[in-house]
Amino acid sequence: MTNQPKILIVYTGGTIGMIKDYDTGALKAFDFSQISSKIPELQQLNCEIETISFDIPIDSSNMNVEYYIKIAEIIAENYDKFDGFVVLTGSDTMSYTSSAISFMFENLQKPVIFTGSQLPIGDLRTDAKENLITSIQVASAYENGRPVIQEVGLYFEYKLYRANRTTKINAEQFEAFASMNYPPLAESGVHLNFNYPLLLKSTEKKNSLVVRKKLDNNVAILKLFPGITESVVKSFVNIPNLKGIILETYGSGNAPTEKWFVNLLEESVKKGIYIVNVTQCKGGSVLLGHYETSSELKRIGIINGSDITTETAVAKMMYLLAEKLSKEEFMRYFETSLRGEMN
Ligand code: ASP
Repeated sequence: MTNQPKILIVYTGGTIGMIKDYDTGALKAFDFSQISSKIPELQQLNCEIETISFDIPIDSSNMNVEYYIKIAEIIAENYDKFDGFVVLTGSDTMSYTSSAISFMFENLQKPVIFTGSQLPIGDLRTDAKENLITSIQVASAYENGRPVIQEVGLYFEYKLYRANRTTKINAEQFEAFASMNYPPLAESGVHLNFNYPLLLKSTEKKNSLVVRKKLDNNVAILKLFPGITESVVKSFVNIPNLKGIILETYGSGNAPTEKWFVNLLEESVKKGIYIVNVTQCKGGSVLLGHYETSSELKRIGIINGSDITTETAVAKMMYLLAEKLSKEEFMRYFETSLRGEMN
């Protein structure tokens, strides 16, 4: 690294890059290469900043696997040239996107920090400035010649989280994200305090970056609710080409013990569909076999999602499905923490 860290901002869209058209009152995207005119404070940061924007910025509701690949390619192509990366996306699907990116990079040794905002950068009360400025500081934090953060993070409202541990929990408050099963990696107050023992560290022997650009999105989320009918579950497990189901169960991984339900899942597992048990609760973990209501799931070969979030389970499923693993390997990898995403 030279004296000044070089940071690449990748702007994909979302509220953060919008300004208000005061004639019409509508929010519209602005030219992100002009970012320093909106945030002159950026010039005071001790780093060199470059930006790359999507040609057409997207609302994160339109995020998809092609865009994941585009983000990963931009970072991979610029990996050697920059010391850290800040990726701006809309907050709505940021946890899904940042989780997917965490799996797409193996041996990541540089910070990739996702952020966004609840109010546009051009709004007087915006949260965009703090989120962006501190994300850049996090991405440029080096100690003993090595980056402090060597993983994919998500910074929002004074907290840096491991991205693949986050969930969007609030559509209105600035504190839009939570990481229920893993404490923040850093907190910003008067000082920027890193929680060192919690950080992922790459090994000293520098394995080079591996970029996994294949994802298989033949997946579905099936959320249980009392009264769910056989026909609903049947139509899910019969979705053409479906390869993986994220089964959102109750509490510590519990589900109905009714015969029709267990049989439908068992048949699907036999057909080769991977089913992962994740809890609908925001915090805590699946304990497969802890109650009678989950021991059947264990018996029929349902994968234990432990304390993974639904967002990350979707991303991990897409990633592992594309790796063409044997059934044993798939289950073993899913139940193992690959990027610090589960305990
Ligand atoms: N709808 C916006 C998006 O996710 C909200 C935001 O930017 O936070 O793109």
